[in-house]
Amino acid sequence: MSEENSNRTPADAASRRAAAPIVCYQVDQLPSSNLALYQQAREGMNKVDEITVPPRDGATFEVAAGSFFRIVSVEGSQVGDLNLWNAHDLSERFFSGKTRQLHATHVSTGDRLWSTLPGLRPMATITHDTLDWYGWDEDGGGVHDVIGTRCDPYTNYMLKGVDYHHCCHSNLTRALVAGRNLPPGEAELHVHDVMNVFMCTGFTRDTHQYFMKASPVRPGDFIEFFAEIDLLGALSTCPGGDCGSSHSDDSTPCFPLKVEIYKPADGSLNDWTSPGRSGYSGTHGL
Ligand SMILES: [Zn+2]
Repeated sequence: MSEENSNRTPADAASRRAAAPIVCYQVDQLPSSNLALYQQAREGMNKVDEITVPPRDGATFEVAAGSFFRIVSVEGSQVGDLNLWNAHDLSERFFSGKTRQLHATHVSTGDRLWSTLPGLRPMATITHDTLDWYGWDEDGGGVHDVIGTRCDPYTNYMLKGVDYHHCCHSNLTRALVAGRNLPPGEAELHVHDVMNVFMCTGFTRDTHQYFMKASPVRPGDFIEFFAEIDLLGALSTCPGGDCGSSHSDDSTPCFPLKVEIYKPADGSLNDWTSPGRSGYSGTHGL
């Protein structure tokens, strides 16, 4: 709210504001995250593939259900914008908003990335995060947000009046065109709100505006996920670099990010099954 208030504060404003906040979802009723099993499985895992995403660009990768993948900082402090799809049905994709409501504005080990309706199932579980020490800083900032949408050329044009082709939205679009051989117009429609990997963000205390600050990520840091279903992923190396100054331009130092795919030891997931889609009937009272 940036306008001056136009309405008089009521006499009982203080008591209305004093209502107790209630966490919206009973998250202790979520299905178990199987974290102990995953921690065991990751002990004997082996790297089977890796890709490097160049600066200000994007790339896709595939991860089979029951495997792990890591996003790794290399060379310099760099933020990554992550999209995930069901590898067999791109209409089921990462649901940033519901993930935020079920977990928090920023995610770390044990949190899951949920898929869009009507699937609504865990697509991936975070199994390790070398930045979990960061917590919440004095500005209220945290790392790995599921708040921001992705930098995009439309908002940039609206604000600056220039064409810029290396926003995360465009990087993810080009990645999907190349990775799935899709026409650009079709690929773009599959790009969705991201998980902002390594990005440090929050809301300003006075105006509650979305802010970013230089990411604490350093080369060697990584965040690791367990693939709950067969995944197609796309990662963009944000033109904002560490997102400590500007974005949507070529003036900020940017670095590559690596995606590593790991297979757990045979037999280590015998007690695990890939989660199914939501059990809701889907009839909506009709
Ligand atoms: Zn970006």
